[in-house]
Amino acid sequence: MDGTFNDNDLSKVVAADKANVWHHLSQHKPYETSDPRIIVEGKGMRVWDQNGKEWLDAVSGGVWTVNVGYGRESICDAVRDQLMKLCYFAQVAGSVPGALFAEKLISKMPGMSRVYYTNSGSEANEKVFKLVRQIAHKKYGGKKTKILYRDRDYHGSTLATMSAGGQQERNAQYGPFAPDFVRVPHCMEYRKHELGLEHLSGEEFGRAAADLIEEVILREGPETVGLLCLEPITAGGGVIEAPEGYWPRVREICDKYDILLHIDEVVCGVGRTGKWFGYQHFGIEPDFVTMAKGVASGYAAIACMVTTEKVFDMFKDDASDPLNYFRDISTFGGCTAGPAAALVNMQIIEDEELLDNTTAMGEHMKARFLEMQEKHAVIGDVRGLGLFQGLELVQDRESKEPVPEAMAQKVVAECGAQGVIIGVTNRSIPGRNNTLCFSPALIATKADIDAICDAVDNALTTVFG
Ligand code: PLP
Repeated sequence: MDGTFNDNDLSKVVAADKANVWHHLSQHKPYETSDPRIIVEGKGMRVWDQNGKEWLDAVSGGVWTVNVGYGRESICDAVRDQLMKLCYFAQVAGSVPGALFAEKLISKMPGMSRVYYTNSGSEANEKVFKLVRQIAHKKYGGKKTKILYRDRDYHGSTLATMSAGGQQERNAQYGPFAPDFVRVPHCMEYRKHELGLEHLSGEEFGRAAADLIEEVILREGPETVGLLCLEPITAGGGVIEAPEGYWPRVREICDKYDILLHIDEVVCGVGRTGKWFGYQHFGIEPDFVTMAKGVASGYAAIACMVTTEKVFDMFKDDASDPLNYFRDISTFGGCTAGPAAALVNMQIIEDEELLDNTTAMGEHMKARFLEMQEKHAVIGDVRGLGLFQGLELVQDRESKEPVPEAMAQKVVAECGAQGVIIGVTNRSIPGRNNTLCFSPALIATKADIDAICDAVDNALTTVFG
């Protein structure tokens, strides 16, 4: 693999990047004075930068996306063939890959039946919010417009999805937000003292954490609440899985008050946790599921909002009401490259048995992290499922005070010095990102996982002794 550019090209690319690109989620002062990292090529689990340096990517393209790894010829061929045949036609008409991918996706989601294509996770979530508002008008006389979201969860970067945003760092300075979005408490066992539930553990804690949602519903008035929107495992908020007992109780509460349940699988969807979808670990069926990142592993832009026939039926044409149907469009949603890539992506996961690999490698990774926790007092908590895991770093295990973000960033930099890209998150408290996060591609081998864990082990020793 030769990822180098000649010097001339390289200086031009770097200059153009520095002069003209506004990078996502980046403070630009440090960027201007540093040597930018421009990723030029990728193959399998590895990427190469503009200097030809090889990196082991433990975060699948930075944000949990490239599930089947880089350089998949079969996906590129399918996209190329499809684009030559038909690059685009609006989703008001059907398309061959759009229909075939929808059928395949639904075959993995018992209880679901309809796929609505969008471009991004934020947009998919917005579709759910719009549908819920329309259902409130159609079915409940304008009531049931309230959307409940959870502390620490994230659902996107648009103003409506930020209105459902439980992370202070992301939301500060962007208000005012849309009305009728109401926050419910988180369900993080490690920080259960914040909920006043420190006396409970395991399933008892899980049910009690869900009961806190019911308290909010009763306070707001069940007749005003239309949707509960949750991440199956909170991602950017610190890689937080819910305790036993939580999800069945959540479903029970939604059924009791006639509230639709929306699971945001933008990160967990399509294999990341060792099942097709995160919620499939919990034995529940949602009313809406959204997904984006891993759907086509980044080979093309595609996101989906998936729902049941029961919801779809509410939008069946009604001649007496010309406003009855879902009056929504997304120009590039379902653009043919997306479902063409997604179809092959899913086939690869099946053919190479990557769900099983994710489970096995996830268990190995968790075991290595738990071993490291015995050695490094700074690791307060080890969390996650499959190849989606996090290490929360704390100054003191008793107080659980997060380490300063600069220290966590040093760990990331020390891993980088060893050629391993890892992430850090926890956008709940501004400036306190203290959770190292890991989401290698589902093709990771034991040797890849060991290389990632060794780098983290060394980095923690360097930074914290
Ligand atoms: N939902 C979750 C859980 C996410 O983590 C993200 C992005 O990180 C989104 C939604 C937004 O997706 P997008 O960036 O594709 O709009």
